[in-house]
Amino acid sequence: MKPIVELYPLLHQPKKLVITTHQKPDADAMGSSLALGHYLRKRGHHVTVISPTNWADFVNWMPGTAEVINYEQQQPKANQLLSEADMLFCLDFNIFYRTKSMTSPLASLACTKVLIDHHQEPDEASFDFGVSDTNKSSTCEMIYDFIVGAGDADLIDQAMASCIYAGVVGDTGSFRFSSTHAGVHTLVADLKKRGLDHGRVHEGLYDNFLENRLRFIGHVLLNRLEIFYEYNTALIAIPKSDLVQFNIRTGDTEGLVNYPHSIQGIRFTAIVIDRDEERKWSFRSKGQFDCNTFARTYFEGGGHYNAAGGRSGQSLSDTVATFKSVLPLQPSLKR
Ligand code: 5GP
Ligand code: MN
Repeated sequence: MKPIVELYPLLHQPKKLVITTHQKPDADAMGSSLALGHYLRKRGHHVTVISPTNWADFVNWMPGTAEVINYEQQQPKANQLLSEADMLFCLDFNIFYRTKSMTSPLASLACTKVLIDHHQEPDEASFDFGVSDTNKSSTCEMIYDFIVGAGDADLIDQAMASCIYAGVVGDTGSFRFSSTHAGVHTLVADLKKRGLDHGRVHEGLYDNFLENRLRFIGHVLLNRLEIFYEYNTALIAIPKSDLVQFNIRTGDTEGLVNYPHSIQGIRFTAIVIDRDEERKWSFRSKGQFDCNTFARTYFEGGGHYNAAGGRSGQSLSDTVATFKSVLPLQPSLKR
């Protein structure tokens, strides 16, 4: 994988570009894809954003979401665009399987592939150009760097600024995680000077749910939360029946894994949701516990040191039993 700066000369002529991201894109995945799309269109390129799957309502307010192609719904059109593309940009993921049903179409593409991502252990061999930096708060920060690095900071408009800010807010937990280095605040100051309305972004991301989701959270915290004080750990296990009862949709469970961190002493939280095809895990830690290694070792996943995800093909009760059986093997969690 060649450094991303070597890509700039190749973007001097108009090209057909496709931008994609991980399945069920969150604020950083969607925000970075849209912001880069807006920028590259301003530079005269033909750009399409393809999402591997549907996405949560809380990213729907982002300028440009209506034009994003959902691969699962528009496969023939998406495959056509992919086959005609000169370049593919892969944002906020670093290994093709995170695109679910797009995995083999992406792997077989002959065009130039570009990686912009901040997760651990990138599959560098799959990309021609790129930047992979786990010190970055978000892929949105890296898109900002990419635009500024091209000397195009003045092309950043309100639409790009709100998409970039949304991803930064999402991935830094509203500026509280340790990934929030000084440069993140400098970036936000610059976006503010360029017209960012930060209040509207927060409303779009966090004040945009339906009543059922709030009642679902109440139910989950009351009935599905288990605390293991001896390991400073909390677990939430959500059966499919809860998702049906409360009519839960994509994005409604986002952020739920963080709630138990408000309990004194809790340093590791996990949530597992019984989805149709798999049991989907999310892990979050404070301080010295490596969620990435934990997810990779026991739950076919990965991510970052303090935030990772995984999956299981076991039943909900079996994968919960697996979780409980490996907790005592984590010395750093012991009280
Ligand atoms: P979340 O819990 O919000 O789904 O994901 C937390 C972090 O872990 C994100 O950075 C996400 O990209 C990563 N992640 C989530 N699920 C998986 C997975 O199954 N495999 C890998 N490699 N990373 C994941
Ligand atoms: Mn991200």
